[in-house]
Amino acid sequence: MTKLLILQLLIAIIVYFIYIKSNFINSNSNFITQDQMTAHHAKAIVITCMDFRLIDDAVRYLDSIGYNNNYDEFILAGATLGYNQTKFTAWAETLDKHIELAENLHDIKEVIVIDHMQCGAYKIFYNKKEISREEEIELHKENFKIFAKTIGTKYPNLKVRTLLMDLDGKIINV
Ligand SMILES: [Zn+2]
Repeated sequence: MTKLLILQLLIAIIVYFIYIKSNFINSNSNFITQDQMTAHHAKAIVITCMDFRLIDDAVRYLDSIGYNNNYDEFILAGATLGYNQTKFTAWAETLDKHIELAENLHDIKEVIVIDHMQCGAYKIFYNKKEISREEEIELHKENFKIFAKTIGTKYPNLKVRTLLMDLDGKIINV
């Protein structure tokens, strides 16, 4: 009798986990992941700002577009601006080396950079106390252009994707 109960309980637990898993997959139709034990390649290297507010949003967004566990990551304060600025030249040098590593080790095909709104780096590097939303969007657009051109010249085999994230985690069309 006890054995039967344990068996029933085990079956119930298994059914429960299958149910949870199938629901999870259904609600995230783009959620694709690689077998961590056998994977050798990644689709991209992703560069984000260091800002604590958007760490989870960036991961969720990348999962939603099918990049789960399929990118190398790199953090630079200001993302594109961190790369473009010339005050700290080691920042761009270090990212370049990591892009080369990602290409050699994981055969990446793409560089994805995610800037975000109300980024503190913009106030620091542009030496402004306040930046309006419109002004900040224009500055991100300028930095996207410079970043895409520089990366495109240095790494002609890699596609460059520039994204701007709002503080609610949504991507802004620019
Ligand atoms: Zn930032």
